[in-house]
Amino acid sequence: MIGVLKLVGVTRRYGNVVALDGLDLTVPDDTYLSLLGASGSGKTTLLRLIAGYEEPNEGQVLLNGDRLDGVPPHRRDIGFVFQNFALFPHLSVAENVAFGLRYRETGRIESEAEIRERTQSALDLVGLADFGHRGVGEISGGQRQRVALARTLVTEPRVVLLDEPLGALDANLRARMCDELRAIRERLKVSFLHVTGSETEALTLGDTVAVLADGKIAQVDGARTLFTQPSNPAAAHHLNAWNILPGVVEGGGLRTAVGLLPINEPVADRTPAQLGVRFDRIDVCDPAEVPEAHDHFEAVYLTGEFNGPTTLSFFRTPDGSLIQVLDHLSDPRLPALKEGRTYALHFPPEAAVLFKGAA
Ligand code: ADP
Ligand code: MG
Repeated sequence: MIGVLKLVGVTRRYGNVVALDGLDLTVPDDTYLSLLGASGSGKTTLLRLIAGYEEPNEGQVLLNGDRLDGVPPHRRDIGFVFQNFALFPHLSVAENVAFGLRYRETGRIESEAEIRERTQSALDLVGLADFGHRGVGEISGGQRQRVALARTLVTEPRVVLLDEPLGALDANLRARMCDELRAIRERLKVSFLHVTGSETEALTLGDTVAVLADGKIAQVDGARTLFTQPSNPAAAHHLNAWNILPGVVEGGGLRTAVGLLPINEPVADRTPAQLGVRFDRIDVCDPAEVPEAHDHFEAVYLTGEFNGPTTLSFFRTPDGSLIQVLDHLSDPRLPALKEGRTYALHFPPEAAVLFKGAA
């Protein structure tokens, strides 16, 4: 895969904190790549390194094969949409967008007519054609987000970095902006690298989704593949859809704190491993009704979270682990649950993913 942007072995330390630890990442041409990482995992640091606001301690950043180290931010051809928009409050919408053209050091545009034309086409692109004259205090949060995007796009960057761009918006608006961001990117054919702490945002937006954990990329894959086949516990953990049970392989199953659980592949005894079981693949029944010889484990029902189309139920196993089970309103599998009662939980072996290696 030809990468327009490539990070090779990038390490960034702050004193004793290793924010990025030998990270490799390729952002392909003409792609929406979303990067999912917890708060404090180094997402902003990564974008700042790419944009040139910081340099790595080790490793390289390459754009179309050229090393970017030492190249100042305004010469990198990389756009940055900041987390809190960072608009100039005293300038109009149009002047905020034009700013990037008027004051950049290289390729500055002197012709007022051209500035007006390019500003207007950037505003058209983000759906703000008629808002140029407004003050940035006279528009909504979603519109401010679009101004921030237009201000970046007007300079025609080769790659656009977006730092949690939807974080400041309410849920309805966030869903709408997701569609718009994808549509805008498809029209422009530039690559977007969008970092977020939200797994739904990352999966909805990304053609490709990368998971950042412990300063490295845990996995990069298509959204559907990542969600259904995480390749390690760190990736699974970030999807917020997988229970992870550590144990040791024994006689064709995994011996865990909750008992012997089925696995779907032959693995040598005594191999340490972790079993991932998706929230929506666990079935629940009364302990008296477990079919004979059916692998199961027992857990106490704590509480449930009803959110409309789905219910998320929380169980506590005797060793204290929390197990989450997701039920869909349109296709319910779970019986009526009583808080404090013990239930039998089970899943088919093929529903689980085995991650070899100790926890
Ligand atoms: P995220 O954007 O994923 O929340 P950041 O990239 O902001 O994470 O931070 C990653 C880690 O690096 C955190 O532990 C943070 O405290 C640390 N860090 C980031 N910037 C600095 C800085 N300028 N000085 C010291 N520590 C920093
Ligand atoms: Mg951040």
